[in-house]
Amino acid sequence: MDNANLPKTLLAATRYFADPDACVDFVAAMRWPDGITCPHCAGKRVSYLSSRRIWKCMAKTCHKQFSVKTFSVFEDSPVPLDKWLVAVWMVVNCKNGISSYEISRDLKVTQKSAWFMLHRIRLALRDGTWEKLGGTEGGPVEMDETYVGGKVKNMHKSKKPKGTGISGKPVSAMAKTIVVGMLERNGRVRAEVVRERTKEVLHELVERNIQPGSTLLTD
Ligand SMILES: [Zn+2]
Repeated sequence: MDNANLPKTLLAATRYFADPDACVDFVAAMRWPDGITCPHCAGKRVSYLSSRRIWKCMAKTCHKQFSVKTFSVFEDSPVPLDKWLVAVWMVVNCKNGISSYEISRDLKVTQKSAWFMLHRIRLALRDGTWEKLGGTEGGPVEMDETYVGGKVKNMHKSKKPKGTGISGKPVSAMAKTIVVGMLERNGRVRAEVVRERTKEVLHELVERNIQPGSTLLTD
């Protein structure tokens, strides 16, 4: 993001990303620095339908459509793309670091959404990828969970994590912080801290991080 035309202030960023075409261009450049690539088949022969802001893959065996969000970490998010991109701008440009409180306040999203967005953006910048795990082949993804911190039995009742772990074991004997790791065969790894290990939380985690059709390997 060293383009001289990019916004210099938060207000300018908010205005810049209010234009849906600017959002598409920005994500496309960030996601596909070597040119637009079909997320279904990794094909490069694509045709843009500007009225709908989607591409159609021209590969004979594919012919699928996709948007800048397809199979990316922005997919399935209730937060609109322009707010995501202003948040990306904030993380990249605020040299002294940005808090989820600031994102929540400036973008008018809930504290929970802001926390998640911040976490997701930092991971993407660190890993250099905005793709969900699983890749174009929808390859297998291993998931496991680690428990960090004190024992659950020492926690206040209201703070105890609920539900069962990925493996189906109850979390009652486990610890305070639950870290779910997701590892792809080609070595890409992602880790997220979750507050509870309920089915809903796990389902949402998988949906956000892993491409549909991927085989999930759990213990
Ligand atoms: Zn394709």
